[in-house]
Amino acid sequence: MLNYRKHPLKGPAPQPAAPRRRPGAVAGARPPAPRANGGGYSGSQPLVRVEENARLFDYEQRVKSAFDAIVPALKRISALQHEEDFEARAQRTARDCLGFELPAQILSDAWVEQLDMRRLFAWCVFETYRRFCDDFFSTDPLGSHDEQAFEAFLQECGFHTLDISPCADGRLAHVIRFVLRLPYRAVRRKSYAGALFDIDDSLEKWTETELMRFREGRPNTADAPTRYLKTVVYHYSSSDPSREGCAAHGSDAAAAARAGLERLRSFQEAVQNTHCCGASIDLMLIGLDTDTDAIRVHVADGNGVIDLDRYIDAQELYEAIRRLSGHQALERVEARVREAAPDMPEGMQRLTARLLENNLSQIEYVRAHHGGRYQDIGHAERFIGAGKGFEEVQLRNLTYFAYLDTVEEAAPDLDVGIKIFSRLNVAHGLPIPVVVRYDYQGHVPGARERAVGRCERVAKAIAARYADLVNGGLLHTLMLVRDYASRGRIEVLGCSVNADATGEAH
Ligand SMILES: [Zn+2]
Repeated sequence: MLNYRKHPLKGPAPQPAAPRRRPGAVAGARPPAPRANGGGYSGSQPLVRVEENARLFDYEQRVKSAFDAIVPALKRISALQHEEDFEARAQRTARDCLGFELPAQILSDAWVEQLDMRRLFAWCVFETYRRFCDDFFSTDPLGSHDEQAFEAFLQECGFHTLDISPCADGRLAHVIRFVLRLPYRAVRRKSYAGALFDIDDSLEKWTETELMRFREGRPNTADAPTRYLKTVVYHYSSSDPSREGCAAHGSDAAAAARAGLERLRSFQEAVQNTHCCGASIDLMLIGLDTDTDAIRVHVADGNGVIDLDRYIDAQELYEAIRRLSGHQALERVEARVREAAPDMPEGMQRLTARLLENNLSQIEYVRAHHGGRYQDIGHAERFIGAGKGFEEVQLRNLTYFAYLDTVEEAAPDLDVGIKIFSRLNVAHGLPIPVVVRYDYQGHVPGARERAVGRCERVAKAIAARYADLVNGGLLHTLMLVRDYASRGRIEVLGCSVNADATGEAH
């Protein structure tokens, strides 16, 4: 078992730390501090949800500072290692800066050799992640009270499921709860490198959804005239378009949009060809400027054919309505959608208007708390998440996702992640933390055992694929499972930080 100590959930507040910077970024640059009124930024935009923005910012700060406190704390501890009373002083520093203690064994070995900072770093990232998960699943900090209202709204618009595939890039990990302001439990999210989602996986989900409607009448009965809506979110960078766009598409925004649309059409065709009786789905294509979090929603004609060149830009809308009253602003958003896509079905128009309106709050969020543009416009993820699950990760630049059943099949996604972290961590002598995680449905017989088996296989395959990194202490894995049907907490299976000489995690 992983040698985790039991700590109370709420330790001392983590020390604020400087944000991670890309090499060459301006030293000392920090995002603006929360406003003196507790983050209640008085927005200049009529449709902005000021209180929600304050709550989301407080949460983002809390989680990110916990991860960002690790390096400064370890630097202080490293400087103490030849001092008298090292272990007690190190633990005191860890408690003060991180809110938890470090594994005694790693500290006690320090007198023989140098303190193993790589192991310690990986252990701290994993422990911070574990605490972040426990907090998420026990206090539901991003919970939304309007889940049911949103589901009802979605059905009014003509859809019974909203399935979104963003790019696996960590700069899109907050797309559901922050960028689009949707209740995360009411939306399916599955990320893929370049947003190039797996058609078979989506087809399986579509079939499951339709069967559930037919058998259980959830989320609505099969005779209701609603459809499954598949959405792709591709991305680009307005500040540095040729370098900070989507790596999977060579930072070419047009190519990313085109590839996303092609994948959507293929999925639609797959549904139509696999199932008769007029079975089909609806499609939506959204672009995200990862520097400002502004979206552009591509519009379709009366037949649902999406136009790559025609879209509504939320940033433009934001500027256009800032001096209007709330009511006028809302009307302007709706009018803009009707004007851009007069033939699009009314339900799709309403949903498009809602997403744009929601996004205005996020544009304001970035303006109020990040000066209008993020400081970390490039990658600054803290760990790689491999496997299935991770519903708790709703924050920007926290996690690079690699959704996978086997390492073999998702090798390109994983390789992109390892490449990103080679720059972020390995280049600075720090290991790549990989969380391998499989969620399962506890009421299905044998599901936990299968999830555990998959977790172990994937962790082993990752260790084999990146053996050089593992042997150099530059890649560590944490294995977890979680019963998502009971909305349980995560269960830690093992961690390479505690591996013995045989390399087996225990
Ligand atoms: Zn991407």
